[in-house]
Amino acid sequence: MENSDMISEVKAIRDFLGSQVTIAAHHYQHPDIIACADIVGDSYGLAVSTASSSAAYIIFCGVQFMAESARVLAKPGQHVLLPRLDAGCPMADMITRRQAAAVLQLIEDITGAAPVPVVYMNSSSEAKSLAGERGGSVCTSSNAVKVVREYLEEGRSIFFFPDQHLGRHTAKMLHMAPQSTAMVSSDFSLACQGDEKLARMFLYDGWCEVHQHFLPEDVAAFRTRHPESIVMVHPECMEEVALMADMIGSTDHILRAVSSAPAGSVIGIGTESTFVHRLASEHPDKIIVPLRESPCEDMCRTSLSNLLSTLREVLDHHDRGIPLRREVTVDDKVARGARRALETMIQITDGVKL
Ligand code: SF4
Repeated sequence: MENSDMISEVKAIRDFLGSQVTIAAHHYQHPDIIACADIVGDSYGLAVSTASSSAAYIIFCGVQFMAESARVLAKPGQHVLLPRLDAGCPMADMITRRQAAAVLQLIEDITGAAPVPVVYMNSSSEAKSLAGERGGSVCTSSNAVKVVREYLEEGRSIFFFPDQHLGRHTAKMLHMAPQSTAMVSSDFSLACQGDEKLARMFLYDGWCEVHQHFLPEDVAAFRTRHPESIVMVHPECMEEVALMADMIGSTDHILRAVSSAPAGSVIGIGTESTFVHRLASEHPDKIIVPLRESPCEDMCRTSLSNLLSTLREVLDHHDRGIPLRREVTVDDKVARGARRALETMIQITDGVKL
């Protein structure tokens, strides 16, 4: 089936179902999917938008942890579907709830006080649930500084997981001395430049393989080719790369910075390359290039054909009660804790109570 035929059918089913269906797409999705979506955003924007949606069916074009968060925040009776159930996230799999609980205990044994878990959105529902049960919060790359600052001001120490680079960048943005942070490895060993008993922020050593690909040499080579350029990178990139950039920001932040850059700007971007190529096609008056090709395999799994099949499935369920195969479910107990952690994030970020 041709792309144009699939797009026509997607639009026809979408129009037929009207407000009963919402198609949400993460910025890293393929442009064909973005073109069919009702909501496009980063993980924070999508969590907030889908939580306020009253559609009976939310089709989430992204990866598992995002669809699970939408499920956790959904109202009773709403169905959340993921067109590719095998679209996961290697970083989310780097730490289990059990491992996170063991690290929290380890930190408490060392410092004598229970730390607050601050878990990156890119994590399992079980990990989020642990954070919610222990009075912690979820954060995203757009609000990590706000969330962490909230707890530091309460005088609490923090276990930040799983992304070490975002954690390190957040600590830097909060002007924390390097001696105030400690690294916890997956084998539970601890490294701290100062006295670990006095550390305020403990970072887990997880990383995103897509952003870990960017190297200082990529920035240097880009600057040699384009001396008058701007370099923007995502905070999941390594510190050595971030230090060479003109701007470090979340996906949404990068999108806004690119939009407001003057015509003729030359911009090198260190983040997922499907997104960077879309920015380039949307801004033909600027030269926008990825610092290196680094697509997210999991984000790229969802095709137009998967979206169309999901919509057909929704139609069959709506008209004939045929069971949904791509529905995302989260255990009730896990969902309660994860919801608490997600709600805390939204409250800290926007002052909004769901
Ligand atoms: S870009 Fe990185 S963090 Fe995001 S889904 Fe892909 S692997 Fe996970």
